[in-house]
Amino acid sequence: MYIKKVIIRGFKSYREEISTEPFNPKVNVVVMINIGANGSGKSNFFHAIRFVLSDMFQNLRSEDRGALLHEGAGHSVVSAFVEIVFDNTDNRIPIDKEEVRLRRTIVSNKDEYYLDGKHISNTEVMNLLESTGFSRSNPYYIVQQGKIASLTLMKDSERLFLLKEIGGTHVYEDRRCESLKI
Ligand code: ATP
Ligand code: MG
Repeated sequence: MYIKKVIIRGFKSYREEISTEPFNPKVNVVVMINIGANGSGKSNFFHAIRFVLSDMFQNLRSEDRGALLHEGAGHSVVSAFVEIVFDNTDNRIPIDKEEVRLRRTIVSNKDEYYLDGKHISNTEVMNLLESTGFSRSNPYYIVQQGKIASLTLMKDSERLFLLKEIGGTHVYEDRRCESLKI
């Protein structure tokens, strides 16, 4: 399972719909039209991916959600979406399809998720991503500046927590705790 494509419309600096070429499962380089000049949207591209996959943008306040919509002189937008197309040929996502699309939209100051075009709840997204190893609370697969240093410096218990997330077992522990409560 890997991210095969990213489609963005109306999100931050991306007013028009853009779609990446299909990614290679190994190494890809995303080049901005103006060769990565300051403000060309490099960080916004990764923000868009995190908008769908991490819980960094969860429980957004209305004004923060509004700030994610593209704003420009005379051409602001009222809705936006980011869609991630996963290659699922290894069936890691328990859906019998070679390609699975997860979209998060902002419309009328609400944000919603859609899995292959069908509306799904935030909890369902969380369970789906956690069980495939795409942890929402700790998106370890996005290695930002300073991340390697923090991994080497963290406590053993924190590293164990991370390994459980990478292994996708956390979600089962959470569910076990929930069922013991009943
Ligand atoms: P740098 O090399 O400086 O890190 P970058 O390529 O990472 O640049 P980004 O941070 O992705 O640049 O993009 C910043 C640009 O996005 C700014 O020009 C900012 O005005 C624009 N931007 C941010 N939010 C919005 C928005 N809601 N609507 C329109 N433009 C936006
Ligand atoms: Mg940047």
